[in-house]
Amino acid sequence: MSSNRHVVIIGNGIAGITCARHLRKLNDQVRITVISGESTYFFSRTALMYVYMGHMKFEHIQPYENWFWEKNRIELKEGWVDKVDFQSKNLEFKTGEKLGYDELVIASGSKSNKFGWPGQDLKGVQGLYSKQDLELMEESTKEGVQRAMIVGGGLIGIEMAEMLAYKKIKVTFLVRESGFWDNVIPKEESLLVGRHIREHHMELRLETELQEIIGDSDGRVRAVRTKAGEEISCQFVGLAAGVTPNIDFLRNSELDLNHGVKVDLSFQTNIPNVFAIGDCAEFHQAPAFDRRPIEQVWYTGRMHGETMAHNLAGKKLQYQPGVWFNSAKFLDIEYQTYGTVPPNWDSEKTKSFYWEHSGGKVAFRMLMDKSGILLGINNFGFRLKHEFFDKAIGEKWKASKVIANLEKANFDPEFFAPFYIEIQKVFKEQCGGDFSISKKSFIQKLFGAKV
Ligand SMILES: Cc1cc2nc3c(=O)[nH]c(=O)nc-3n(C[C@H](O)[C@H](O)[C@H](O)COP(=O)(O)OP(=O)(O)OC[C@H]3O[C@@H](n4cnc5c(N)ncnc54)[C@H](O)[C@@H]3O)c2cc1C
Repeated sequence: MSSNRHVVIIGNGIAGITCARHLRKLNDQVRITVISGESTYFFSRTALMYVYMGHMKFEHIQPYENWFWEKNRIELKEGWVDKVDFQSKNLEFKTGEKLGYDELVIASGSKSNKFGWPGQDLKGVQGLYSKQDLELMEESTKEGVQRAMIVGGGLIGIEMAEMLAYKKIKVTFLVRESGFWDNVIPKEESLLVGRHIREHHMELRLETELQEIIGDSDGRVRAVRTKAGEEISCQFVGLAAGVTPNIDFLRNSELDLNHGVKVDLSFQTNIPNVFAIGDCAEFHQAPAFDRRPIEQVWYTGRMHGETMAHNLAGKKLQYQPGVWFNSAKFLDIEYQTYGTVPPNWDSEKTKSFYWEHSGGKVAFRMLMDKSGILLGINNFGFRLKHEFFDKAIGEKWKASKVIANLEKANFDPEFFAPFYIEIQKVFKEQCGGDFSISKKSFIQKLFGAKV
């Protein structure tokens, strides 16, 4: 790439911004422009809920000071791209303005799913994805909302529920499946989360599907009707039935699209000098056997951005996804997952070890292959170290070795209850293993840490 070329990135989320920052580090000459219709400056989408709850101001979720971009000669342009002319290498904005590029990176993220439900565009009905969604939710729930309905049970749904409950609004979940998020997590974990939601005085209606959203004479939501015919009064509906790539502005062009923009492992699309990264990119083939062609999580967006920057700087790299990792919070229960833990597995090929604390808020699941090699873990209610499991899964440790060393994986061993001791005991009883059970540390004994 010659140094005076113009790289234009559509999208200033984690994928686009990581690409811009790393490209500048690798190449001091190239002109870089990052475009977003949502906001001039990059912000942490995962922290939007804290702004709603008043724990942070919007400026606090912008990881870089405003001067950072000028200092690093990354031009920021606020505006919506309406279409791309791939022949003449020009973007056209909704305002009619045009901008030329030499290399184009599409990092346009996701948007909330809407499945054509009657009433889905009424006032008081929305998803939560963007800064504008946050502002709308603040406005719509300022007053007069006694009950909110959350349609869908996933990570964004639980965040919306927590936000609404914080404002003392009653929350009801409508979940199509028979357990909360049970298309992603195994049954025991789904039951744990479901109990926790109910203990927080939220209503969880499982196997309940939305039929329609009903409005009042002002075009504002007043109720929902379920497929079973029940009408439930509510003044706000949160649509949390997943997200989909935000690529409508690219339809009807020569760019190869499916659900997302089709790319190879170097993020190359079917058009030369046009790439796609982050939530909106869809690999022709999943990057590993246990990965999906579209990855809609924060840390993979960052990895895409970094790999893309190397390619733009002429250092050819293929995307190496590494060990799958994700983390989230179910109200106040932290959740982490490493490696492969699907909701169901073939017990002929895969063994499972599950431990749950008697309090029902802390759990640990480990999946192994038939020879005892660790495949993945889920942990709820306590934190374990990322590096430990990256190494254990990457190096194909035996599950018994993982359990024997679990103390080293504990995120805060001195002050957290030593759950690993209980886990080691139960594992030894159920699965055997030649290791000795860890002992409480001096500080744990001193403070009477109980399992
Ligand atoms: C409420 C919430 C909580 C989340 N929590 C977690 C979490 O805990 N952990 C986790 O891993 N992931 C989480 N995610 C998902 C994570 O935020 C996304 O995977 C990630 O932000 C995607 O990054 P991206 O850079 O691909 O796209 P985005 O962050 O979506 O950025 C794309 C940008 O492009 C802009 N854009 C799109 N089209 C155009 C256009 N035509 N013209 C101009 N601009 C355009 C968009 O407006 C947007 O600003 C959460 C998401 C949400 C909504």
